[in-house]
Parts: sequence; structure tokens; C-alpha cells
Amino acid sequence: MKYESVIGLEVHAQLLTQSKIFCGCSTQFGQAPNYNTCAVCIGFPGVLPVLNKKVVEFAIRAGLATHCEITRSSRLARKNYFYPDLPKGYQISQYELPICANGYVDIDLDGTSKRVRLTRIHMEEDAGKNIHDGHGDSSLVDFNRAGVPLLEIVSEPDMRNPAEAGIYLRTLRAILQYLDICDGNMEQGSFRCDANISIRPQGTDALGTKVEIKNLNSFKAIEKALEYETARQMDTLSEGGKLIQETRLWDENKEQTRAMRSKESAHDYRYFPDPDLLPVVIDEKWIDEIHTSLPELPGTRRSRFLSQYALPLYDAELLTSRRDIADYFETAVTIYPNAKAISNWIMGELFRILKERKLDQQLYIKTWPVRAEYLAELVQLIDQDKISGKIAKMVFDALVDAERSPQTIVKEKGLEQVSDVARIETSIDQILAAYPKQIADYRGGNEKIFGFLVGQVMKSMQGKANPQKVNEILKAKLSCTIST
Ligand SMILES: [Zn+2]
Repeated sequence: MKYESVIGLEVHAQLLTQSKIFCGCSTQFGQAPNYNTCAVCIGFPGVLPVLNKKVVEFAIRAGLATHCEITRSSRLARKNYFYPDLPKGYQISQYELPICANGYVDIDLDGTSKRVRLTRIHMEEDAGKNIHDGHGDSSLVDFNRAGVPLLEIVSEPDMRNPAEAGIYLRTLRAILQYLDICDGNMEQGSFRCDANISIRPQGTDALGTKVEIKNLNSFKAIEKALEYETARQMDTLSEGGKLIQETRLWDENKEQTRAMRSKESAHDYRYFPDPDLLPVVIDEKWIDEIHTSLPELPGTRRSRFLSQYALPLYDAELLTSRRDIADYFETAVTIYPNAKAISNWIMGELFRILKERKLDQQLYIKTWPVRAEYLAELVQLIDQDKISGKIAKMVFDALVDAERSPQTIVKEKGLEQVSDVARIETSIDQILAAYPKQIADYRGGNEKIFGFLVGQVMKSMQGKANPQKVNEILKAKLSCTIST
């Protein structure tokens, strides 16, 4: 029997607010343990939470960008459970009335669009963090993260294989980054994902027994875990076994999932409206204001890049995958409109350096030393035949280390391309005189020698000769020698 997987994802996105969701503590990452805490976020009795307005605004931004209905009067609810990182004994979340519902995200599968429906987006507070390693028999708790605002974005089970799940997550992350409400950093846990997966015979509609997978902290882990789980569930069923509804943990080292606990149902949490917090009532005017302030989103921008700059789909996709890179590209193109060349430099050299310096996960490009105007200038210098492509790469590397314009670097290091025919001829004559044997070989029909001779000329001119001119003049001289 052929099976297909049915995948739904729950994303937790940490919001880029300055302060926490119900108190004034900072949300800054990397502080000393328990530094960003107060009586409210460590759950002292009798304290009163106050909802951060920015969190509501960010939730509405996310909802509008994903075509959700915005609930005009939503509620915050207590989700009751005990865990050492949750000192109140309950998490403030939303339950029966989430702030956003019934949206969708369109994802691109090799040129065809697929719609992934969103069930809901709700606001909630994050828990603290238990630290079990390195303290002997003791465990420690750090409450800096307790009360940091999250959006939980729940999709319908609309994905049919692990690759689709990966594309959906990348698309969603790009949208949140474009909206400037989440940095999308998976390593630091500001973009996390739990996956629900079941399998069913292909061509049937009924849903199978679903398993929730936790502890997925990279795109690679998510795809691998879903592949593993699909295979495990198929094996179980084909051996006549039964699947149970449970939560499983992904083990990165063993590359397998293992049972963690049987899955709780909503009623286990005894949700009820938080009596300390008022309903969240949103007026139309505010929604309109937020709607007008939305930026151009990745899908729209990609289409525009295709038509406005005549870029291939591959380029447009890569450049718009991050808002900072798309902005960088557009700034450069506005200064010097050779879009394809600028795109090539970004996808090649820029991405190479970001990867080499392990900066590709960070929104670093805002402080990138190769400013967009410098890249534009560099491409222009090549187009004007002032430097060769090879020299341009040297200039680019120099730009990464010191903030100066390409023109300055070219002048300082004397890298300007030599197109002067007389100077190139002199150099070619010297080379021809130095390699009589090779020239005889070339005459004898060994055409590879030509490349060798070009190399020698370039070397004698420190790589600065215009290669096209060298080719032309050398060819002319060699044919001349042959005819005489
Ligand atoms: Zn606090």
C-alpha cells in the first residue's frame, strides 16, 4: 500500500519587542541568568500583568500579512500545567478566542503555488529555561525568557511531504522578518517549530493517528525528523502494528525520534479566561493604520524583481529570501543599473563571505562593510574596463576588511586595468622573444600553448592587462609571425 504523510506545523516566533509581554523587563538575549526579571515575570503571588500594546500590534501585522481574520475582541487565557520553568503554574496564552484566525500562506513549489491554510495565530508568553548540565546533581532555572512575547502560528495539516514543510517554514520566516517582528534566528530559539505528522493510504481523506515531534531547532532537523517519522509510521503499519497519539523528541545525534509522553488534550490544561486581564478590543482605525504600514512582502517582491529587473527566478528567489538582502540589492541597482551583474556578485562573493564568517544566519547586512554603493561602484569599474573581473575579486576582499571605496583601493594598490595597446604590445613582444620553442609548438598545431602565452603576458603585467586586448593582440601577432 502507498502512503502519504500529512503534516501540520506549530511555529513559535519570538517577537522583537523591547520589553516583555506583561511587564517592563527587557527581552535582551544573552544577559546574565535571571537579570531580566521582576515580580511579575517570576510569578510572585498578587502581581498584576499588563498587556504590552506592541505585542498586539505585531500579532495584527502577522495576521494581516497572512490573510487572517483579526478578532475584534479576543481573550487571554490561562493554560495550567506544572514545570519548574513556569513559576506561576500556568502560562498566559489564548485559547477559544485567538487574535487571528483562518489565514493562509502561499508557498512556491518549483514554480507552482500551493496554499497552506493557517488555523490561528495567538499571543502568549514564553517560559523560562531549565539548565540541567554542568551542575552536578542540581538543575538551575533561568527566568530571563519567562514572559518574552511569542506568537504561536498554527497551520492546517496541508503539507504532504517533509520538503513542503521546509519550504513553508522558510516562507513564513521570511514574512515575519520582512514585517520586522521576529529575527527568525533558529539557533537562539527565536523561531521554533513543533511538527504534527500522520500518514494515510494515498487517495484517502481520513486522518491517521498523529504524532507530535518536538526539539526541532534547524530546518535540516525538521526535514530529517519528518522523513524519519514517515518511515517509522509506515514500518509500524506495514508490520501490522498500531500507532499511538504521542509526543516524540527528535534526537539530533542518533537521527531518530523517541517517545516522550502520551499527547495531552486541550482539556488537560483546564484553560480559562485570565481574570487579571481585560478582553483585547481592537478598533477598525488601528487595523487600517497597521494595514497601510505593511511593507511589500517577499512573494510580491519576488514577482516585481522578475519583471522590473528581468532577473531569472533563481536570482529573484534568493535575493528576496531576506529583506535586508533585497534592500541591499535595490540600493545598489538604483546607483548603477546592471541588475544581473550585481545579483551575481551578491549570490557569489557576498554569500560566500557571509557563509565563511558564519554570518548567514544573522541579520548582519545592515552593518556589512561592503556597502551597497561600493558594490555598485565595483561593478561599474568592471563594466568600464577599468579593472578586470579577477582584480575585482581582490578589491572585493579588500573591501570586506576595510571600509574604503573601490576606486580608492584600485588607486592605492595601482590595480587599474591596462588597455593601452602600446604597453600590452611591448609586454607581448618580450614574451614572444622569451619562448621561441613554445611558439614553434603553437605553429605546429598545439593550440593549448595560446593559453600559456596569455598567462605569461598577464603575469608580466601583474594581472592588470585587459585580457580581451591581450587575446586580440597576441592572436594578431602570432598569425603575423606565421604568415611571414
Ligand atoms: Zn518582569
